[in-house]
Amino acid sequence: RAKATNRGGHVLFEDSIRRELETRLTLEAELALAAERNEFELFYQPQFHLADGRLIGAEALIRWRHPVRGLVSPGEFMPVVNTSPISERIAEWVLQTACTQGAAWEHAGHKLRVGVNLSPSQLESGDLAISVAQVLASTGLSPTSLELEVTEDILLHDEQAALNTFLEIQELGVRLSFDDFGTGFASLSYLKKFPLDGLKIDRSFVLGLLTNPDDAAIVSSTIGLSKQLGLSVIAEGIEDRATADFLVRMGCEEGQGYCFGKPMPASEFEVKFLTAAAAAEVA
Ligand code: C2E
Ligand code: MG
Ligand code: MG
Ligand code: MG
Repeated sequence: RAKATNRGGHVLFEDSIRRELETRLTLEAELALAAERNEFELFYQPQFHLADGRLIGAEALIRWRHPVRGLVSPGEFMPVVNTSPISERIAEWVLQTACTQGAAWEHAGHKLRVGVNLSPSQLESGDLAISVAQVLASTGLSPTSLELEVTEDILLHDEQAALNTFLEIQELGVRLSFDDFGTGFASLSYLKKFPLDGLKIDRSFVLGLLTNPDDAAIVSSTIGLSKQLGLSVIAEGIEDRATADFLVRMGCEEGQGYCFGKPMPASEFEVKFLTAAAAAEVA
């Protein structure tokens, strides 16, 4: 690294920036092609009422089924998607696909909500509420069965525009939840500013719950805060039963995590959680 300050290093530095840019452009082009070839899929992770084990929802999580690399996680491509021209197209596909799936489950008699992660482009466009209304109308999904998840970074750009959009979305009867709560810079002020229905405790606080008193204090306060504000609260990243039990004792009503089910294809979700046998197992 120290070499980067000498004369030769200067060239090296430019080289590395160029390489990074090339990698990004290649990935962008690949992603556009992937969208055309329908290589994106939505996986669904179950969400449960912790005290009685009742299934309450499914969070839709995108995957890229790459012809060579196999299944690619959103962490590896969503940051690029979110700042590239195909962002809107993919975000629309996610919303449409998740709502279509949710409507199919609803029509089959299953009562569960579908969680969809919003992308920055959807708030920037200014017409998110209109697209949500259109998707609900075209898929037949009940507005109350849809939950849109927002993270702090997508609120940063234009708070007033986001607020207006959220008010319109809530008017439709759609739920809004605050994802990765506690990891951003201004979580508390956003709680005050935006009309939210629930918050999701980030898994970084849940992971060490049993061993780290600081995490326990943060989670416990967050649960108390959400109750006082009249918000629902769900814990993310529950990996074992002991953590789930601890959360129940702290008053957390809902949870999701590997302990109950990893994100999986819709067909597998149905077999595991929506068949008569699955229902009997929980009861
Ligand atoms: P997120 O919305 O906070 O989703 C939760 C992430 O935690 C998922 O990662 C999920 O697989 C993972 N997770 C759930 N339970 C556990 C657990 O018990 N242990 C551990 N270690 N991890 C757990 P995933 O699917 O890789 O997604 C990562 C992030 O990518 C999401 O975080 C979300 O911010 C973003 N993302 C995923 N799908 C979409 C999408 O369709 N649209 C947008 N805009 N963003 C998406
Ligand atoms: Mg989420
Ligand atoms: Mg999260
Ligand atoms: Mg996240």
